[in-house]
Amino acid sequence: MTARILDGKAVAADIRSELAARVAAVKEKLGRPPALAIVLVGDDPASQVYVRNKLKTAEDAGMGVHLEAISGSASLADVLAVVRRFNDDDAYDGILVQSPLPKTMGATAEQQVFDTIHPDKDVDGFSPISAGRLVQNRDGFAPCTPAGVIELLDRSEIPITGQHAVVIGRSDIVGKPMATLLLHRSATVTICHSKTRELPSMTRQADILVAAIGRPAFVTPAFVKPGAVVIDVGINSVTKAEDARRIFESHPDRIATFERRGSVLVGDVHPDVAEVAGAITPVPGGVGPLTIAMLMANTVKAAELRSR
Ligand code: NAD
Repeated sequence: MTARILDGKAVAADIRSELAARVAAVKEKLGRPPALAIVLVGDDPASQVYVRNKLKTAEDAGMGVHLEAISGSASLADVLAVVRRFNDDDAYDGILVQSPLPKTMGATAEQQVFDTIHPDKDVDGFSPISAGRLVQNRDGFAPCTPAGVIELLDRSEIPITGQHAVVIGRSDIVGKPMATLLLHRSATVTICHSKTRELPSMTRQADILVAAIGRPAFVTPAFVKPGAVVIDVGINSVTKAEDARRIFESHPDRIATFERRGSVLVGDVHPDVAEVAGAITPVPGGVGPLTIAMLMANTVKAAELRSR
């Protein structure tokens, strides 16, 4: 069997184009389009790529966007001060502080940032208020990546109700909210993590398997029930030639990409899983574009709530 490819890029484009009328309506009411403030601390190359994509997507959608770049040597207090300034600034509906923050800011730095962002502007959905609302299935901002996965399943007409969904990963930004959203959609949900025993036998029970681990090509065909829907959240850059050749043994086009660029992206799911799964998201072009589309949707929603 060769899996149906779930085209995240196309679904993300649909979501963005549906936002256009809502962007125009906000502009009419507020005299400006929905606007997002992005805070980038330091010079992590992956973060720079993510932020560039978010800026471009917001601009292309006709939204307002501002990048506040802060030196990696700044203090956490400096970052929190910037967040507070955006909290109080009516020109912005949403605030996003790109993770990760520099390690020197301490282990709780990100949590302190999430605690500081005003819940009405928490378009990433990472604040404890947003997390609490999500658990209680109240209206609010759901984290963009898991919300995007639900959109992808719905728009691909993949049923969720009554299905056994297995989520690998229990992070606050992906695994936990993913499991919560699937539960709210009446899936039977199992959460697996680094201490789970007999992982492949757990994941083989999944009708819908979500991998959010951060380990390249970790989920092999032995983890997957034939015909299952596999959602690959992982984004990993493979930089060693031997790893690229091993993972993409039967995918010469990807090895060619590696040879051209010196690196190649791979998800948490091994490419051979496409031979077993019924449907699968590619990396790149799967969950990634949906994350950014949902960030735009959350920013529009924040602006609508302010303009009511
Ligand atoms: P994280 O490091 O916070 O969490 C990883 C989770 O995987 C942990 O809960 C851990 O228990 C679990 N895990 C680790 N090793 C395991 C093992 N051997 N067996 C079973 N479980 C194991 O990572 P995260 O922030 O949740 O991100 C996960 C992945 O998703 C990363 O690759 C990240 O780059 C990617 N990501 C992608 C998007 C997107 O837009 N597509 C957004 C966010 C994160």
